[in-house]
Amino acid sequence: MSIDRTDLVRKAFGKKALAVDIPEQIISDYFAERVFDRAKMRKYLDPKTLQALFECIDEGKPLDRKTADGVARGMKEWALENHVTHVTHWFQPLTEGTAEKHDSLIELDGRGGVIEMFDGSSLAQQEPDASSFPNGGIRATFEARGYTAWDPTSPVFIQQDTLCIPTVFIAYTGEALDYKTPLKRSIKAVSDAAVPICRLFDPKVNKVQSYLGWEQEYFLVDEELFAARSDLMITGRTLMGHMSSKNQQLGDHYFASIPERVAAFMRELEVEGLRLGIPLKTRHNEVAPNQFEMAPIFGEANLSNDQNQLIMNVMHIIAHRHGFVVLLHEKPFDGINGSGKHNNWSLGTDTGRMLLAPGKDAEGNLLFLTFFVNVLAAVQRHNALLKASIASATNAHRLGGHEAPPAIISAFLGRTMTAVLRKILEVPSDTPIQIAGKKGRSVGLIEIPEIFVDNTDRNRTSPFAFTGNRFEFRAVGSSANCAGALTVLNAAVAEQLLDFKEALDKEMAAGKSLQVAVMDTLKPIIASIIDVVCFDGNGYSEEWQVEAKRRGLDVETRVPEMFKAFTRPESVAMFTRTGVYTEKELLARNEVKWDTYTKKVQIESRVMARMAVNHIIPAALEYKTRLLKEVALNQQVLGSQEGCGTELDLIRRIGAYIEEISDKAEAMRQDRKRANAIEGEYEKAVAYYGIAQEINALRRPIDKLEELVDNQLWPLPKYRELLFIS
Ligand code: ADP
Ligand code: MG
Repeated sequence: MSIDRTDLVRKAFGKKALAVDIPEQIISDYFAERVFDRAKMRKYLDPKTLQALFECIDEGKPLDRKTADGVARGMKEWALENHVTHVTHWFQPLTEGTAEKHDSLIELDGRGGVIEMFDGSSLAQQEPDASSFPNGGIRATFEARGYTAWDPTSPVFIQQDTLCIPTVFIAYTGEALDYKTPLKRSIKAVSDAAVPICRLFDPKVNKVQSYLGWEQEYFLVDEELFAARSDLMITGRTLMGHMSSKNQQLGDHYFASIPERVAAFMRELEVEGLRLGIPLKTRHNEVAPNQFEMAPIFGEANLSNDQNQLIMNVMHIIAHRHGFVVLLHEKPFDGINGSGKHNNWSLGTDTGRMLLAPGKDAEGNLLFLTFFVNVLAAVQRHNALLKASIASATNAHRLGGHEAPPAIISAFLGRTMTAVLRKILEVPSDTPIQIAGKKGRSVGLIEIPEIFVDNTDRNRTSPFAFTGNRFEFRAVGSSANCAGALTVLNAAVAEQLLDFKEALDKEMAAGKSLQVAVMDTLKPIIASIIDVVCFDGNGYSEEWQVEAKRRGLDVETRVPEMFKAFTRPESVAMFTRTGVYTEKELLARNEVKWDTYTKKVQIESRVMARMAVNHIIPAALEYKTRLLKEVALNQQVLGSQEGCGTELDLIRRIGAYIEEISDKAEAMRQDRKRANAIEGEYEKAVAYYGIAQEINALRRPIDKLEELVDNQLWPLPKYRELLFIS
């Protein structure tokens, strides 16, 4: 056998934690030192430039050339002080992860030497070759070229020797080719829709922010074991592997003490993240063995999402230094938990009021209820679309799995808020809404108990859960760009708020007080959602699947079908009304989604077949041959096959599995050939959905063989080795 697993495992197990250079300063002294933040702007920019730039950032004014030049001058000075040699526009195309093309700062000085140059034009705009990025036909239909443009609301940062400028990426004809542009549009849409409502309560409100706090789950695997598995290397997940006898059933990994080698990795990652201005706050062991989580303090959604994209990248680099590989795939191992990325999401005004947290007084509570109910209404209206926003070939393995949110989007409210909503339906609209003391509740009032605010009950099975001051959108995949989900959520909420405001205006025009008008507008909405999208029960149960269907929620489980929700008339109407996507963009992006789905499954299918034929069958045959020889020898020496019962049984079983594998691999190859000949992206993805099921079916006999074949001959690191070494 070419790989000696025992040796690999022993080596991996013997690795010691790396010593990590921890800065001597306290965190607040080095936090964001690699970010051109407001403090650096003040230090390096002249007052006029500074003011103009702040207007761009805070008021969305366009960046003029003169300001750009001024900013570039200051930025260059800061960059050179930090030994920067290169600059890049850093953007988020529709591939996974971020894109960057580095240019050195040098220009010829005309006298045989070079000088460092960086001006407003290279800060503000660049032209990467858009045709090489997924664009779903925008290129063919519209314009081949695209450009990247600085997003001044995302601060510039330094990674190693490179100045990174966060940018949007758009076609010359204006279509978004990335994740950031629609996210920014959706942030604006929800603000524009929310501000007029907030102003009824507080005229000083000018802007509503979207907030995001992501919780990134991931696995760590020793890199030598990783390198011995082509499925992990190429697809990011194990396509085969029998469950380990011990996995997560004892619940002894969650919140357990962090293994030393992992802790060293986390420490270094955190220092790096903090230097980059990412306020990393929480780290812990997750439920599955070798699964971990990290979370920052939440922040403005666009910035927080940039930071998530950035840290996902940094994780890979730092893990490598510690002899680990980070797996961000949603389901790297069958039979144990997969990884998600809870998106903690909320809205807040520029006057400092959090809109999804109960207020301190009756008015604050009314405002809270307004936003709370409208968010739920948006989630109900667009539940198929929200599911489509988190759907992918990789997340498909997690959704509907037994530890993950089901492929049905419902919302968890908790007992208190459910009771509050039901009460509202029963009482007159002028009933005051109070925050009650810890104990008392007097009849007649709508009361939100004080303890509720920091003590909401939990329901881990809900994909969209209210947790006291925010909603947690839990169905988002660990490898995803959060913007995909947040864009849809913000846009859907924006539309719902626009409708709500229209209805509210009618009630107000009838001369009602604000409270009565709001309550009268909310009541029919509450009545329409309380027994539909709101669900506090067990989301993993079989009954819920039936019940959800009866309630009219979307229960589609096939990913290629899910994407269709994006181009339904009601979705197109919502996105165009809120200015978040044009219909062309929606059509183009679905082409990309289907194409990506197809390619991911296609790659997995190829890797699977090759591993089956080139790794698994040879190992099984070798063992079978040995058994056959043993039986033959028995026959030769003793003149009979007596006492060979076990061998003969194994030979027959192994033989049958080998045939099954061989047949299934060949059938899959034929199906792939047929699928590849299909023209339309949707139709092709549908065919590949079938192939994804074949991959699962091919896995079964392989995992059975792993149980039978001599451990020494098995050519791949096993689950027990991948999952328990760190
Ligand atoms: P959990 O107990 O849900 O696992 P964590 O502490 O792991 O909680 O993560 C919670 C995340 O939610 C953090 O990123 C936190 O900053 C964020 N968060 C807290 N409050 C809000 C809010 N109002 N809006 C958005 N995110 C929030
Ligand atoms: Mg959480």
